[in-house]
Amino acid sequence: MANDAFYERIGQELAEIDAQGLTKRERVLLSPQGSQVRVATPNGERDVLNLCANNYLGLASDARVIDAAIRATRDWGAGLASVRFICGTQLPHKQLEAQIADYLGFEDAILFAAAFDANGAVFEPLFGPEDSIVSDSLNHASLIDGIRLAKARRYRFATNDMAALEEALQQARREGSGQILIVTDGVFSMDGTVANLAAIADLAERYGALTLVDDCHATGFLGEGGRGSAAFRGVEGRIDIVTGTFGKALGGAMGGFVAARRPLVELLRQRGRPYLFSNALAPSVCGAAAAAIDIARSDEGEKLRTQLTANATRFRAGLEGLGFTLLPGEHPIIPVMLHDAPRAVALAERLLDHGVYVTAFSFPVVPKGLARIRTQMSAAFTSEQVDRAVAAFGAAGRELGIVA
Ligand SMILES: *Cc1c(COP(=O)(O)O)cnc(C)c1O
Repeated sequence: MANDAFYERIGQELAEIDAQGLTKRERVLLSPQGSQVRVATPNGERDVLNLCANNYLGLASDARVIDAAIRATRDWGAGLASVRFICGTQLPHKQLEAQIADYLGFEDAILFAAAFDANGAVFEPLFGPEDSIVSDSLNHASLIDGIRLAKARRYRFATNDMAALEEALQQARREGSGQILIVTDGVFSMDGTVANLAAIADLAERYGALTLVDDCHATGFLGEGGRGSAAFRGVEGRIDIVTGTFGKALGGAMGGFVAARRPLVELLRQRGRPYLFSNALAPSVCGAAAAAIDIARSDEGEKLRTQLTANATRFRAGLEGLGFTLLPGEHPIIPVMLHDAPRAVALAERLLDHGVYVTAFSFPVVPKGLARIRTQMSAAFTSEQVDRAVAAFGAAGRELGIVA
């Protein structure tokens, strides 16, 4: 066969990934997403506490969110079979755009099939060869890819290092004549660190730069009203562009957005390639997201956020009491540091035996020597479930000699 060598190369690459212990396996859920899920394991099916979903507010299986998705499907159909500008725009799309813009305090917003697409769309039409994009070194893969598509000059600064950011801004100003844009994750997903947006907004002002924050791990639950990392850092109104997802706290279905001033959003409608050349969001997805935002903005959202914070605090204290090393922070992402990759994997496997589902992360997802189990708390946990998760960590940790 003419192409045998090609498929052999693919096979070799897969073998190399496996030899390095980096093969990612999908564990099949046999239930809806939630604080407790049923999973398939080598020893059969079992119910486990889930500490690795982005289901921060517990809305992924909320009855109202599910009903809204079903209702939207009944009223508006299964899908549009069209991009937005041909015949793929319905009222639910316009309403969701207005709703997310209003929630986050922006003039307008534009929907995408995913935040990955929002980040893939936002840079290329707005920033040309004379412009400069200054990007945090730990930014999400979709920001990195999106920035690569733009013709702008690119600068990177050490993560959350404000002196390094200022140096990069000075260099950008020396070397370019156009607009400067600072780009950062609002929350860095492997560490749970919230970006220093107050310092970033100050530097942006001083250097005449715009700011873009990817708030996927914040929208709906972080800061006042769940309005995200800008609210958390007290700089609402000082961030120019926010990108985010409905695939995490806001119902967990899928879909992304860019929120910004009206002309910027309008130009993305004219020129954003993932918007122009990809199908409109399904009505069910719009319905679920709209219902989730309604809940996040309500008094109940406030209660969910209080519960989430209480759960995260309880879980942190429990693990620290057992002697585990955590990264400090105020976010429901709570990384348990094992440093050594095989140890992290072993603990994750042992935890499943004890009824807790977590995922181990090692190089290249995190730096070498910083392997960890990234846990993510949810408002859906009861304190009894939090305590059970802590007890499982204690038992598994003792069995492996990680804690005394
Ligand atoms: C999850 C995530 C994305 C991707 O979001 P999707 O809507 O799933 O494509 C982008 N950026 C960050 C920072 C994320 O955490």
